Amino acid sequence: MRRMNTVSQAVQPSPAAPADPALPGRRERPLEGAGEAGTGWVSNRQWLYRRHPEGLVGPEHYELVTTPLAMALSAGEVLVEARWWSVDPYMRINQSLKPTYNELPHALDTVQTAGVVGRVMASSVPTLAVGDWVEGMLGWQTHARVHHSVLRKLDPTLAPPSTALGVLGMPGRTAWFGLMESGRPKAGEVVVVSGAAGAVGSLVAQFALKNGCRVLGIAGGAAKCAWLRERLGLTWTVDYKAHATTDALADEIRALTGGVDVYFDNVGGWITDAVIPLIHRRARIVICGAISQYSGGLDTPELGPRFLHHLLYQRATIQGMLARDYLHRMDELLRVVGPMVQRGELVFEETVVRGFEQLPGALQSLFTGDHRGKLLVEALA
Ligand code: NAP
Repeated sequence: MRRMNTVSQAVQPSPAAPADPALPGRRERPLEGAGEAGTGWVSNRQWLYRRHPEGLVGPEHYELVTTPLAMALSAGEVLVEARWWSVDPYMRINQSLKPTYNELPHALDTVQTAGVVGRVMASSVPTLAVGDWVEGMLGWQTHARVHHSVLRKLDPTLAPPSTALGVLGMPGRTAWFGLMESGRPKAGEVVVVSGAAGAVGSLVAQFALKNGCRVLGIAGGAAKCAWLRERLGLTWTVDYKAHATTDALADEIRALTGGVDVYFDNVGGWITDAVIPLIHRRARIVICGAISQYSGGLDTPELGPRFLHHLLYQRATIQGMLARDYLHRMDELLRVVGPMVQRGELVFEETVVRGFEQLPGALQSLFTGDHRGKLLVEALA
């Protein structure tokens, strides 16, 4: 696990944030006793999404506020204290003003949506006890009082709880089902993965290797490429930042691989323009993401080369896939990938930024490529 104590743009709490209310009986420590419904209040720190970004998202689009959260539970409710918050590229997709997979963009002045792993502070249900680890879409806030049905109880003996936001969570689900069901890799084939050093890409590359494929990872910078070859065992890597043109990038990929059977695309843009003309007959192209387009390109699309004719020549298929379509198959993911994690067969690096205050800066760093593996923010002890 790598820990980054700072990110490029650390956030200062907003001067406009309200002071903690002096509420009688306010408690900030975990409740004692399993199943005990709490009383009093907890200070809940929240990152509100305040302004729509036109380009790169960053701290200036968020505001840190503190609000009191009543600890008394209604029937079925659970109070959770967050330990790890996820930062994900989809957060920027959700801020696009154009139609995406959501009907509407993320609402302004609301808590940033996010996956969270935390511990139960109080519970009104027998299935969750104080101290249990849970995961859920609780958002960028330190505490949440929610119905137990939105929480997934974690087994900390299977893997560290933070992996519920990575290899045993949404990115792992994306990588596994995206590669296996849309990419359909066969032993001996060439699989090319863009964004290969990231949360999804690093897992896709390893799953492809496990399937007997030869794998080329595309990533930014020599250090990430060396990590992919030396630690993950990729067959080839290409540092896209070392190339000035699409043709130069394509030439290197062609020289190394001789052509592409499966392209798992996390980044889109000119990198994808370089790969598509290299596809083999009956290639499968998995559109997982297009992060190169998120910082403004979704609202104001750039005109790229027209490459669909290559699909015609090669009778290839191109398929978009979404992690949410496989949510009901989490048990299957845990059954298949969980043992790989336990046996130490997968590298699932986490880059951990420490401190709730760092969240918007950490989100920005996703788009500048400062991390490897899954990027998380951890609460200070
Ligand atoms: P990630 O790869 O851990 O982090 C993003 C990485 O993207 C950065 O580290 C950077 O790596 C690369 N990047 C950023 N801007 C770029 C640019 N302009 N050109 C090329 N590379 C760029 O993030 P992740 O969570 O695993 O997500 C990866 C992709 O999968 C994203 O597109 C995301 O939207 C998508 N995704 C889709 C689903 C789904 O359900 N379909 C689910 C999860 C994620 P370098 O240093 O190598 O540039």
